[in-house]
Amino acid sequence: MKLFIATLSTETNTFCTMPTAMSGFEEYFLRHGTATQDPPNLMTEALHVWREKANVLGWQVIESLTAIAEPAGPTTRSCYDALSDEILSDLAECGGADIILLQLHGAMVAEQIEDCEGDILARARALCPDATIGVSLDLHSHLTEKMLEASDLIVHFREYPHDDATACAVELFELARRSHAGEITPQMAFYDTRMVNLYLTKAGVMKEFVSEMAAVQNRPGVLSVSLSHGFPWADVEDVGARMLVITDDQPQLAVQLAEELGRRFFELREKVTTRYLPIPEALDHVGTRSGLCVLADMGDNSGGGAPGDATHLLQAMLAHGMTNFASGLFWDPGVVRICQDAGIGSRLALRLGGKTGVVSGDPIDLTARVMNIETGLGQHLGTGLEPMGTVVWLRLEGEIDLLVNDLRVQVYHPEAFEQIGIRLAGKSVVAVKSLFHFYGPFSQISDHILQVASPGGTQPAFGDLALTKRKLPFWPAVAQPFADECLADAG
Ligand SMILES: [Zn+2]
Repeated sequence: MKLFIATLSTETNTFCTMPTAMSGFEEYFLRHGTATQDPPNLMTEALHVWREKANVLGWQVIESLTAIAEPAGPTTRSCYDALSDEILSDLAECGGADIILLQLHGAMVAEQIEDCEGDILARARALCPDATIGVSLDLHSHLTEKMLEASDLIVHFREYPHDDATACAVELFELARRSHAGEITPQMAFYDTRMVNLYLTKAGVMKEFVSEMAAVQNRPGVLSVSLSHGFPWADVEDVGARMLVITDDQPQLAVQLAEELGRRFFELREKVTTRYLPIPEALDHVGTRSGLCVLADMGDNSGGGAPGDATHLLQAMLAHGMTNFASGLFWDPGVVRICQDAGIGSRLALRLGGKTGVVSGDPIDLTARVMNIETGLGQHLGTGLEPMGTVVWLRLEGEIDLLVNDLRVQVYHPEAFEQIGIRLAGKSVVAVKSLFHFYGPFSQISDHILQVASPGGTQPAFGDLALTKRKLPFWPAVAQPFADECLADAG
């Protein structure tokens, strides 16, 4: 038995003006068949699982490319061709495989190719018409007809923040093994819920809905149930949340359950989503609370393709007269370079952030002391360790500590601040550039968490996104996106 495995991961914010090029993969994570020799990160956990399980069964494993880039704008065509060609040529050179398992992020867009995952899967299918092809996806992806046509099994992460990559990898491996052995015949169907938003799964009604999906998955004849949350900041035809159901040889049941669960999810739309606070409202809240308060700078999450150098929130905090806070990670390679040249202990006039474009706001001129500089630090996302590049700790007057680095990455964990020497326990506020992934680890050390609808490349204003390619209406841009169906029914 021959198993072929690979990873290609970036999520494309089509509104971002910075292209994703090979340099983005090189600086984050790029291995040519050796990713499982490194400690796992979120997008390589599956490869470790699959190799381990295949070894136990005595299968031959062909490990191909792993390429991971922090999200930005569309991937250049030359970069996409080089990466996808490498996976496909590895597959051809090894003479094909019995089972092909891919960990893809989903939501990758390249120049002239809107559905990169569908493209890769279709090419893999053309090479290996009889193979069992399975895909594990980040739930922030676009689920397309082309992907379903070309593969046998698709499983999305169920949790956001993502801490179930290993569980999904195990599930997919077992389904692929049983499918190839002829024990099951997977039939996939999805349903467009007509929703574009974000859904945190760790509490409340959304947590209950994840349990509901699990209960349906346990019914006879059902193999897998997962929700593609969708990735909102992408003007592509297939943007939006889609419910996926896989049954054992019962195509109609898959269609029916996907619709039932998808409609149920739509009914819960107000309860599974959150209203995020505008900056002034958030800062007013901070003033009324004691203990450590975390502010999530949602609009500038590089993990969703925002630049990571936006100054809107910091500018407002300074104007508000706030002191004794920490804030990061600001992506500003120029400032990092100047600080490296000046050295630890120096006091400098610096122009921070606001350099990438209009979405980042204006740069801030400040005088700061360089407290520390570290290279090679990592921060945990689940059990995996994500890189941070070179990190500089700057201190301003008023016990204000800023974290600046040269690798675009969101804040996942308090250790991003603390490893370099910033003591968060003594702060009144810490502002993190992230949407949700910081949530678990920071809830352990803080008293309040406020999610701020700051401006920027990932501003959470879903009704206002210019999604021109989506054919069907969606909530919250329109209140009743299924109204056309009601009219059709009535007619
Ligand atoms: Zn995600």
